[in-house]
Amino acid sequence: MKHRIVVLGAGYAGAYSAGYLARQLHSDDFEIIVANAELDFVERLRLHQLAAGHELPHRPLAEVFAGTDIQLRLARVTSIDAERRTVTIADGADTDRLEYDTLLYALGSTTADNGIPGVAEHAFHVAARPSALRLRSRLDELGEGGRVLVVGGNLTAIEAATEIAEARPGLRVSLATSGELGGWLGPKARRHVLGAFDRFGITVHEHTKIERVEETGAVAADGTVFAADATVWAAGFAVHPIAAASGLAVEANGQITVDRQMRSISHPDVYAAGDSVFVIGDNGRPLPMSCASAGYTGTQAAAAIVGDLTGRKIKATALSYVGNHISLGRKDGIFQLVDGDAHSKPGALRGRSAARVKSAIVAISAWAVSRPTFGKPNHKYRLATTREVSPKLVTA
Ligand SMILES: Cc1cc2nc3c(=O)[nH]c(=O)nc-3n(C[C@H](O)[C@H](O)[C@H](O)COP(=O)(O)OP(=O)(O)OC[C@H]3O[C@@H](n4cnc5c(N)ncnc54)[C@H](O)[C@@H]3O)c2cc1C
Repeated sequence: MKHRIVVLGAGYAGAYSAGYLARQLHSDDFEIIVANAELDFVERLRLHQLAAGHELPHRPLAEVFAGTDIQLRLARVTSIDAERRTVTIADGADTDRLEYDTLLYALGSTTADNGIPGVAEHAFHVAARPSALRLRSRLDELGEGGRVLVVGGNLTAIEAATEIAEARPGLRVSLATSGELGGWLGPKARRHVLGAFDRFGITVHEHTKIERVEETGAVAADGTVFAADATVWAAGFAVHPIAAASGLAVEANGQITVDRQMRSISHPDVYAAGDSVFVIGDNGRPLPMSCASAGYTGTQAAAAIVGDLTGRKIKATALSYVGNHISLGRKDGIFQLVDGDAHSKPGALRGRSAARVKSAIVAISAWAVSRPTFGKPNHKYRLATTREVSPKLVTA
C-alpha cells in the first residue's frame, strides 16, 4: 500500500505544494491526490480584472499536472473527518470518500460578509471565479450611468473599484468604507490612491459603515441610502467553515492552528497552507492572507511533509511580510513596503513602474504554480519505515 497524500485545493498554496511533493517523493511509495472544485488553476489575484471585463488565460489543472504523478479529482470538498482520516467530495450529485494518510488543507478563503444582512442575497464579490463572472454579467447589463457601489477600503476594494471604473468609464462607481480609504498606507501611497480615485471619478464615502445590503443598494448605519445597480462586497476575506467542522483545532476566525512547520496542532497528520492557516510570521504577527503568504506556507508545509515522511531534515522557510502591491487599473499602481512592525513605510513605488512590478509578480506567481516539474530533483525520496531512521535515497 502506498502512503496517500491528499491535497485539498489547487490554488496558489495547494497547486504549488502538490508540485513540490511530486518532485520530491518517490511514486513507488507515495500517491498524491489533489481535489479542487475548479477545472483551472485560477489566478485569484486577477479576479477583479475578470469581473471588470478582461479575459484571463485558462490554465487547466489537468495540463498543469501533466507529466507528474499527481492524480486530479475535480470535485467540491464537502467535509473532512479528521479522526477517521477521510474527505468527502461531491461532483454534481455524486459523492465519494477519499481516505488519506497525510492531508494538506489549502482551500483558501471567500468573501467575509461580516454578518451583514443582505450580502449573501444581493451583493456581488470577486473572491472566486464564479462570483467574479456573475458580477461581470451584471456589469454587462448596466447601461450608461449604471451605479456600482464597492464596499470596503482595503486592497481588494481599491483594486475592484479602480479596475471597474477604468474598464467601464460609462458607469458611476462609488466606494463606501467604515474607515479611511487605504488608511493603513504611507502618506505618499495614500495620496496617490486618492488621486487615482479622483482621476477615475470614483466617489468615496469614508467613515461610512454599511449595515444592510438590498437589491437596490446599501444602507449605512446612520440611515443613508446608497442606491446601486450592483453592490460589490469587498470588506475582507473569511475562511471556509469546513476546517472548523472537521474537528481540527482552529482559531476563532476558523483558520487552522498550526506549528511553525504548518502541522495542525491537534492532528499532526494534517498540514495547512495559504489563507486557511493561522501562523505567526517572522515579524511576530499573524501572516496576512496573501499570495506571498500562500507561497511561504505552501513551501513550508510541503517541506515538512517530505521531512516527516522520509526522515529528511526540514528546511525552514522564511515567513515574511514585506508589503503590498496594489493595482489601480492596468496602468497605475503602488508598491507599499512595510517595516518590521508591519507598518507602512513613508515612501512607496507609485505609478506605471509599480503597475509593471505588480504585473511581473502576478505573472511569476502563476508561472511558479503552473510548472510543477520545473527544478525536478535528481533524486526522489522513499517513505521512511519505522525501522529506518534515515531515508533511503534512490535515483528517480
Ligand atoms: C480580487 C483579488 C485580488 C487579490 N490581490 C492580491 C494581491 O495583489 N496580492 C496578494 O498577495 N494577494 C491578493 N489576493 C489574495 C490572494 O489571492 C490569496 O491570499 C491567495 O489566493 C491565497 O492562496 P490559497 O492557495 O490559500 O487560496 P486560493 O488561491 O483561493 O486557492 C484555493 C483553491 O481551493 C479551491 N476550493 C475552495 N473551496 C473548495 C472546496 N470546497 N472544494 C474544492 N476546492 C475548493 C479553489 O477553487 C481554489 O482553487 C487577492 C484576492 C482577490 C480575490
